Amino acid sequence: MKYCNKCVTPETAETNIFGKDGTCSVCKQIDVKSEINWKNRSKDLDKIIQIHKDKYEYDCIVPFSGGKDSTFALWYLVKEKKLRPLVVRFDHNFLRRTINENTEKTLGKLGVDFINFKPDFEIVKKMMFESLFRRGDFCWHCHVGITAFPINTAIKRNIPLLFYGEPSAEYSSFYTYDEIEELNVEKFNRSVNLGINAEDMLEMLKERYPKENFNKNIIEPYIFPTQREIFKNNIKAIYLGNYIPWDVREQVKIIKSELGWKGDEVEGIPKNYDYEKIECMMQGVRDYIKYLKRGFGRTSHLTSIDIRNKRMKREEAEELVNIYDGKKPKSLDLFLEILNLSEDEFYKIIKTHVVSPFKMPDINTLKSNISNKIPHDYEDWLKKFK
Ligand SMILES: [Zn+2]
Repeated sequence: MKYCNKCVTPETAETNIFGKDGTCSVCKQIDVKSEINWKNRSKDLDKIIQIHKDKYEYDCIVPFSGGKDSTFALWYLVKEKKLRPLVVRFDHNFLRRTINENTEKTLGKLGVDFINFKPDFEIVKKMMFESLFRRGDFCWHCHVGITAFPINTAIKRNIPLLFYGEPSAEYSSFYTYDEIEELNVEKFNRSVNLGINAEDMLEMLKERYPKENFNKNIIEPYIFPTQREIFKNNIKAIYLGNYIPWDVREQVKIIKSELGWKGDEVEGIPKNYDYEKIECMMQGVRDYIKYLKRGFGRTSHLTSIDIRNKRMKREEAEELVNIYDGKKPKSLDLFLEILNLSEDEFYKIIKTHVVSPFKMPDINTLKSNISNKIPHDYEDWLKKFK
């Protein structure tokens, strides 16, 4: 496999294109970030806010997981921009203890209204298997739910402005920093739904479970509005990181000191990244699958971000990647139990989704390359699903 000559990302990374000079497109985007006129972008943000403030039931919707990006966005909009947001969360069913505690603290300290939606886990499980089987990615219900639910709430309650946090140019090349990213049907189809819309999912479930008489409304929370509905309702769903420079490490310092937000350990990554993807019990499995398909895991992803921001040397990153990436996480046991799959069946499914030129190691090698670390709240996870 070829690797970027600046960061530690290999050529199998989604949307990442390598230039003739051997540098990946994400590294080039980040260079552009410093050339952007952030003063003008900030003025644009104020204009957008001015158009929406005090005109509706709430000034805006903040789609919220409780992770670092949505927590910072919420803090910034309430404290710096004096907005009155409606906070909306789609609960994917795997939220961890620390994230729930963080959420309680954040909502209380900022004094905001909150809507939580948690879909039926029996249906979620079936969707997880279907998307794992067809795309080698079990998170369809989450990708689609966290995207569709807030925008549908915006339409139903007539609150047209929505704020996401991190722009995708930070870590992928669906969009560059020159472009102002907005959530719309094109983006949803290009980078969210894995090429499966809600109606497709219903048909797939009917086919796999012919005896179950699914109500057609089970897919309601996963239906993304049409572009016509988005235009008609003047929906504007934007990314705060397109208007203010996004600096995750600085932002984490702010939410820790202002809101008492706490980090957490995550399977398969070094301890000092305790702020990344701490929301989900299944993050370790997700990152492991990424490794099995593309030959790199979350430690590669995180150290690459640090290299781009000139906080880490390449050699240091390579050392961490060797230690952490590709170890079988403890949570895989629970994952297999939830989906009623054997380990061999799991590897067989993933094998059909491997991205060339990476070759998945043989199953016995994989089975023996185990992480010995048990997450501190693993007991909670077992209790929840047993
Ligand atoms: Zn790179």
